[in-house]
Amino acid sequence: MIEINNVEKRFGSAEVLKRINLKVEPGEVVTILGSSGSGKSTLIRCINGLETLSGGAIRVDGNDVSTAAGLAAARRRSATVFQLFNLYPHMTVLQNVTLAPIHVLGQPRAEAETRARALLDLVGLTAQADAYPQRLSGGQRQRVGICRALAMQPRYLLLDEVTSALDPEMTGEVLDILARLAAEGTTMVFVTHEIEFARRISDRIVFLEAGELIVDMPAEAFFSEEGGLAVPRIRKFLSKMT
Ligand code: ATP
Ligand code: MG
Repeated sequence: MIEINNVEKRFGSAEVLKRINLKVEPGEVVTILGSSGSGKSTLIRCINGLETLSGGAIRVDGNDVSTAAGLAAARRRSATVFQLFNLYPHMTVLQNVTLAPIHVLGQPRAEAETRARALLDLVGLTAQADAYPQRLSGGQRQRVGICRALAMQPRYLLLDEVTSALDPEMTGEVLDILARLAAEGTTMVFVTHEIEFARRISDRIVFLEAGELIVDMPAEAFFSEEGGLAVPRIRKFLSKMT
């Protein structure tokens, strides 16, 4: 379980996260929605220890990310995919996907490659295993990014706007894969502006507004008249987005 307790984050005098509380249970897909600047990426960066907390605590399966040992253990359990596909340009697709399993998990190369090829198969990139990233489309690169995250066999997948740099067709390619992972029970914390997609795959939706988590609801309730739509801020957000 990912447990976020009273988390605060300040940059100078700016309070970017205000007493955030959130739990993500194994098997859940939790989507974080909110306007630009509401703190979504900062929250993801706090979970994987890329930002230090100003207050509160985050535990991943009990491991406190604000300690060195806890963070190392937490990072073994979760993998993050960002908006920009930061693949290593001088390595092939297969090398990009096997690098961390070999060097961080200590998997034998042959085993890492077998697993990597199976993952590339899953996302329709069998033929690109030996290509270099610059030869791939944006959607293909992002699918490699997802393979690279999955190669670490994470319990939790953190996704921050993984499709926002892609055109609609490539977005569709990547969302199809995420939908499949969600259906297979992969635990995900998902930041997106793809509202209709979020509605389809999420168990819960949380809404951030200026650093405050103002709503945490089952997805169905979030999109219902009595639930999320009864909150003026959310009604306004959804009417602008769809
Ligand atoms: P978007 O939808 O545009 O990606 P977001 O919800 O992910 O927005 P964040 O990137 O988390 O928003 O930023 C939240 C706030 O924190 C913003 O006001 C941003 O300017 C501020 N912020 C983020 N990182 C830093 C930083 N390193 N130093 C100072 N301010 C920062
Ligand atoms: Mg962001």
